[in-house]
Amino acid sequence: MKIVIIGTGYVGLVTGACLAEMGHTVTCLDIDAKKIESLESGIIPIYEPGLEEVVKRNKEASRLFFTTSYKEAFKDCLVAFLALPTPAKEDGSCDLSYVLKAAKEIGEQIKQYCVIVSKSTVPVGSCEKIRLAILSSQKEKIPFDIVSNPEFLKEGSAVTDCMKPDRIVLGVDSAESAQIMRDLYSAFTINHDRILVMDIPSAEMTKYAANAMLATRISFMNEMAGLCERLGADINQVRIGIGSDHRIGYHFLYAGMGYGGSCFPKDLKALASLAKEVGYKTPLLEAVETINENQKQILAKKINTYFSPSGGINGKTIALWGLSFKPDTDDIREAPSLQLIQELLSQGASLRLYDPICMNKIASLFPSSQRLHFCKDEYEAAEGADAIALVTEWKQFRFVDLEEILKKMVGKAFFDGRNQYKRSEMHTKGFHYYGIGLPSTH
Ligand code: NAD
Repeated sequence: MKIVIIGTGYVGLVTGACLAEMGHTVTCLDIDAKKIESLESGIIPIYEPGLEEVVKRNKEASRLFFTTSYKEAFKDCLVAFLALPTPAKEDGSCDLSYVLKAAKEIGEQIKQYCVIVSKSTVPVGSCEKIRLAILSSQKEKIPFDIVSNPEFLKEGSAVTDCMKPDRIVLGVDSAESAQIMRDLYSAFTINHDRILVMDIPSAEMTKYAANAMLATRISFMNEMAGLCERLGADINQVRIGIGSDHRIGYHFLYAGMGYGGSCFPKDLKALASLAKEVGYKTPLLEAVETINENQKQILAKKINTYFSPSGGINGKTIALWGLSFKPDTDDIREAPSLQLIQELLSQGASLRLYDPICMNKIASLFPSSQRLHFCKDEYEAAEGADAIALVTEWKQFRFVDLEEILKKMVGKAFFDGRNQYKRSEMHTKGFHYYGIGLPSTH
């Protein structure tokens, strides 16, 4: 099939590359000429494990193309995916302007029947708005269908998620578009049928409900962690205790520094805003967000408490390990590290930062200064540090030589924002160790 992907970001590029891998002919379109130029010359603008090989292979096989031109992309397209940003507006509602702008372009360009698929996360009712935007810009009345196909891939394992999805949700309102989408995804469902066909509003709502449920589990565990700390219980043991109940399960039960990233924060806000529009109260969603906002400050609070007997954070040197919003991605949108860096700098700390992938992105937000050092690895970051804070649990931090790390430090404090280490082992090695949701011992 001839496919166009509009928006060549984290979702668009992965989707385009994986569809090409399955034999489709895919053109990835973006208005960012620099991005398209670098993709043309073989440079992948994002970090996503496994993506580079898939892009390279399919580009060489002439199944994957890149362009900035709607006209060129829509020459003979059967299915066009919208993988465009849907950020939060200031009032929390979803900004549909990127999607609707692209819809108008589509209306001007389609020359034959086409299925327009929204992969962007959009509020219930948006596909109807997309339909109207296309109709309003069509000069000739060429038939088309709209499909909602929300994306569930996770940055860091996006290629695998895309190749082996848990489910493919299709919101459709015509038999023809349902069949085309089934055919398009047939290669992904050979093992067993993973396609769930439903009406368009339900598909749009499924994505928001899924993200809200996952965010709720995180905030729930963070709230339980706060209680554990005060009651002398250990959230790690509680997690195993409740996860073993098959009605609960182990996934998404980790206490930490709160959720970030380009999806959960904005999607929860958009859902709450949508509820407000229809006059429905969502106290649960509000609580999930409030807990998360507080949780993002948890390490700064713990660091403050630790240093307050010795004059506070001012003048202390703190190493931060891991800065992306989660491991295996270079995405720093809404990363808890950003707030922590700002907070510690504003209190007069010197910071020694290290992340395996996203250092350039962090440097573009926080220019290097006398109090901000960008380090080449976690060992260099530890040099001369009064404390280390593990912010993002990249795998390489699991098996560091902790004795060596402690020798490089001038202090002994270790704040583990992701509960990656065993408290007893850290104490034996000589650290003053603080995790999330653990009984305090120092
Ligand atoms: P992104 O910001 O990485 O990529 C969006 C791309 O769209 C950018 O390259 C931008 O230049 C391009 N663009 C903007 N306006 C354009 C236009 N008019 N025409 C062509 N290109 C245009 O965004 P993303 O993270 O890939 O997210 C895309 C959508 O998918 C969002 O709605 C998001 O909520 C949803 N989503 C994201 C993820 C994720 O993990 N990133 C997961 C599931 C769903």
